[in-house]
Amino acid sequence: MQTEKDQATGNITVRNDRKKSWNGREVVRLRLLFLAPLTIAILAIVTALMLALYWHEHQSVQKGVMRIRASAQDFYEDSIRYDARALKAVMDTLQRDPLLRAALAGRDRQRLLRQAAPLFQELKQDYAITHFYFTGTDRVNLLRVHTPTRFGDRIDRITTLSAEENRTTSFGVELGPLGTFTLRLVTPWYDTETHELIGYVELGMEIDRVLQKLRDFFGVEVFVLVHKDRLDRNKWEDGMRTLGHPCDWERFPTVVLSSQTPQSVPTLLAERLARGELGDPNTIVEAAHGGASYRIAFLPLQDAGGNSVAHMALIADVSQQTDAALKTVYAGSLTALAAGILLLGFFNWHVGRIGRRIESDAQTLEELATHDGLTGLYNHRAFYTHLEAEIARTQRYKHPLSLLMIDIDHFKQVNDIHGHQAGDAILQSLSKCLADQVRVVDQVYRYGGEEIAVILPDTDTPFILAERIRAAVAATRFELDTGKAVGITVSIGIACFPRNAETGQQLVSAADTALYTAKKEGRNRVCEYQNPMQAENYP
Ligand code: GH3
Ligand code: MG
Ligand code: MG
Repeated sequence: MQTEKDQATGNITVRNDRKKSWNGREVVRLRLLFLAPLTIAILAIVTALMLALYWHEHQSVQKGVMRIRASAQDFYEDSIRYDARALKAVMDTLQRDPLLRAALAGRDRQRLLRQAAPLFQELKQDYAITHFYFTGTDRVNLLRVHTPTRFGDRIDRITTLSAEENRTTSFGVELGPLGTFTLRLVTPWYDTETHELIGYVELGMEIDRVLQKLRDFFGVEVFVLVHKDRLDRNKWEDGMRTLGHPCDWERFPTVVLSSQTPQSVPTLLAERLARGELGDPNTIVEAAHGGASYRIAFLPLQDAGGNSVAHMALIADVSQQTDAALKTVYAGSLTALAAGILLLGFFNWHVGRIGRRIESDAQTLEELATHDGLTGLYNHRAFYTHLEAEIARTQRYKHPLSLLMIDIDHFKQVNDIHGHQAGDAILQSLSKCLADQVRVVDQVYRYGGEEIAVILPDTDTPFILAERIRAAVAATRFELDTGKAVGITVSIGIACFPRNAETGQQLVSAADTALYTAKKEGRNRVCEYQNPMQAENYP
């Protein structure tokens, strides 16, 4: 139907082109209306998801490090207790040695050394015991089996004082002058018969092994940071020099490194310590260095007296976890983005479909409102709309305009003889015939019944064209379905604007008058409107 119309009239093709651009705008409008907010919503959701994923992954890395810190603390405390039990077992065995007891009771250094030296070698090898003391009842040291040359000083460490006060075994970790930690166990020895105190025996071991186990089990770096206010600077410097360690007391403002931990501290920790920021035990510090990610956790260390004397810094390399977390964030976000794009694509397609349907319906409505169903020509309504527009254009650009009014001669008879359907077919064929005769810029209208109007823009001498139309119709044999061919003629009235009229209505009346004249003068002819009115201002 659409194609037929296009073939029938050149002007319908022109109209369709105009419609198409309007259609595109409708689809764009719908897309803006639905897709713009949807795009914003999808972007917001993807961003929120990305942040949520990042937060979740970040938290899981933090929790992992907090678990390591808690486990490391348990492990440290358990190890100390376990080692203390081992020291206690050794002490119980030593206590049963009558020779040692006699030597201690007699305060006989030489005998004690003779008896204890071989024992110490075994204890050192089998139990990693590094300290072995015999001290008198007055707490004055009789013998350090591990350093026999040093003796005679008074022992007033917490463990010994506690053993003296409580008259029973005391143990705990104690801070040495070099910032070292030693697990010490002190037992008061009594005479088996008189139950009188004969002296104190002390066993000790360094906690280096515990620190090393922490490193091995948890895969972390461990540093012990001793609070300066718990140390004597001179003793510390002397000791460090003797050990051949760097002894820069001013390196950090509040702490020194224990000689039991490596002296080269990673930059990320050194920077914090240099700023005097000793970690809050409840927070995990994030740090990045050399392309790797680290977490630093701090554990406060107490001595046997319950004093906070140091911090243990645990540095965990979490690069693998953070890389995996980032990958999860990227993968999650990309998946959400891809889903969003698919959703957008679907809506884009769907909105496009709806838009095109709306446009097509609107186009059909427009078609029905402006076209004649039988001939496909513009209808009476469109005629007046276009005529007014053409007249306005004509007035603005001072171009002429002509109107043809065409009426089939004796069409009633045609209907009467060949039937109404044949009349319809002739009307359709005539419309096509007229459309073939006019220029592309001319518009053909079914004015009503069997009357057809033609608007000819930029024309003030339409007679030749009208005559050509008349002759072409008269020469045409219109074929009917019945096989018969019918000939018809038309009468044509011509009026020109502004020569014959000042308004559209006047132009139509003038063309009608001319048509009436043509009918009156015998039909099958063209008549121009004749009146004295001349528009001098127009060409
Ligand atoms: P003339 O114009 O030469 O004076 O004679 P006429 O017979 O054409 O007279 P008139 O214009 O008064 O009659 C118009 C006729 O056209 C009446 C009607 O039967 C016919 N007609 C109008 N519209 C249609 C239509 O849509 N289909 C058919 N088949 N006939 C139509
Ligand atoms: Mg008529
Ligand atoms: Mg007629």
